[in-house]
Amino acid sequence: MALTRIAPPAKRDEGQWAFDEARTPLNGNEQMKQDADGLSVRHRIETIYAREGFASIPGDDLRGRMRWWGLYTQRKPGIDGGKTATLEPEELEDEYFMLRVRVDGGALDLTQLRTVAQISTEFGRDTADITDRQNIQLHWVRVEDVPEIWRRLEGVGLSTQEACGDVPRVILGSPVAGIAADEIIDGTPAVHAIAERYIGDPEFSNLPRKFKTAISGSPHQDVAHEINDVAFIGVVHPELGAGFDLWVGGALSTNPMLGKRLGTFVSLERIPEVWAGVAGIFRDYGYRRLRTRARLKFLMADWGPELFREVLETEYLGYALPDGPEPPPPPTGRRDHVGVHPQNDGRFYVGTAPTVGRVSGTLLARVADLAEAAGSDRVRLTTEQKIVVLDVAAEKVDDLVEALEDEGLFVRSASTFRRGTIACTGIEFCKLAIVETKARAARIIGELEDRLPTFDQPIRINVNGCPNSCARIQTADIGLKGVLAGDEEGYQVHLGGGLGLTSGLGHSLRGLRVPSSELPDYIERVVTHYDEQREEGELFAQ
Ligand code: SF4
Repeated sequence: MALTRIAPPAKRDEGQWAFDEARTPLNGNEQMKQDADGLSVRHRIETIYAREGFASIPGDDLRGRMRWWGLYTQRKPGIDGGKTATLEPEELEDEYFMLRVRVDGGALDLTQLRTVAQISTEFGRDTADITDRQNIQLHWVRVEDVPEIWRRLEGVGLSTQEACGDVPRVILGSPVAGIAADEIIDGTPAVHAIAERYIGDPEFSNLPRKFKTAISGSPHQDVAHEINDVAFIGVVHPELGAGFDLWVGGALSTNPMLGKRLGTFVSLERIPEVWAGVAGIFRDYGYRRLRTRARLKFLMADWGPELFREVLETEYLGYALPDGPEPPPPPTGRRDHVGVHPQNDGRFYVGTAPTVGRVSGTLLARVADLAEAAGSDRVRLTTEQKIVVLDVAAEKVDDLVEALEDEGLFVRSASTFRRGTIACTGIEFCKLAIVETKARAARIIGELEDRLPTFDQPIRINVNGCPNSCARIQTADIGLKGVLAGDEEGYQVHLGGGLGLTSGLGHSLRGLRVPSSELPDYIERVVTHYDEQREEGELFAQ
């Protein structure tokens, strides 16, 4: 029996499957996904491409379906940002791949960490970046090595499945889930349940575009939930106890929008089915005509949270969710997990700040050794591109901190700029980039540490290599978006964004393009001006 749809179709044909049983593809990308499911490329990688090499991979798999297994071709070295928009994809790309390892909940045990580290040194020229979605990205990967990499990852319970592509991406989780002394509720069982039930499920392997999930039961709301397609945030219901508040439809890039609360209370046990309902709405009602309108935020903008909730409950769940309270705003202050903090069991977690997430396989192996020497068996990655070592006994803390700092992984002595700066991949490896990001951000951090050694207010500086906002330009105190400034690389500036207590998308300073050579001077002026003008208790970032 056909389902009765209670939501009307969009005003023009947006390619919504709910109103077209034939699922007519309206663009090349939709055609590619209809021709063969993205997940199907794995068999061809294992049986053909890994044996016959890069040249044997046809374009639809190379630039399309390989993303479903976490593989992107990387940018050929030496091509400047001015050519990004003018060259054909095959002229921009190298014969090597970026490989994204999904780390759901940011949680790794030491065996997993060592496995990733070993793969990096053996197959990825010792590269490794911690991303602001708790993944680890390796570079310089050859297709010939991919089956062996998968064998090793899957042998320790890791995967690259659906790390990229029009699918449910990595599930963000609080880096201190289950151990934080002030936790409202531990969302880890829901992270695991969604990953086990739905990642790799063909029901969700052809979504209109990417679908991002965040779950945190921390009062600090430490997963940037406002900018995820679906998010569950810890809250206490006066009658039902601890559970989650549901947010839907957040995303950045062009047309950034913050997620909307549906006003429902979701118990821990119900999260997976509610998640599947929201993902199902996106699959069936999401706009597929234009890639630029294919994120869930556009459907939410047209429907609003009331209709979204009605469709979720009526068509997908078959029951009404209870109304729920709004979570209180997170406590003020830093939310980056850096430093030494008490756990709920008397031990401590130790958060360290690798510079803009850039590490290496060698360094990750060293972190594993140091964690083990401190009696720990697990680490977590954060959405601020940081690493947290869990379960450290009090008497081991100082030795661990000293050893991490010797490796350049600052804990107690991390400056506010090192803690608060993140950067996307940029022109070093990304085909869409216009400017360099990681190395420049590292230089800016060093300059600011020298120039403003006493400035200690929390501050967020997010450096992006193009307008795509992988490093969340609109949610930073100082967001930098790569552009060309004459012949020089430069950055368009976006000021005053924030999440948590100060949720907002900030303001772009239109027309202002700061050449890269002037960036340290510019940021120093902004920070100094703020410091001189700020009132008692006023914070740059929350
Ligand atoms: Fe690449 Fe642009 Fe994303 Fe940076 S923001 S990783 S340059 S697509």
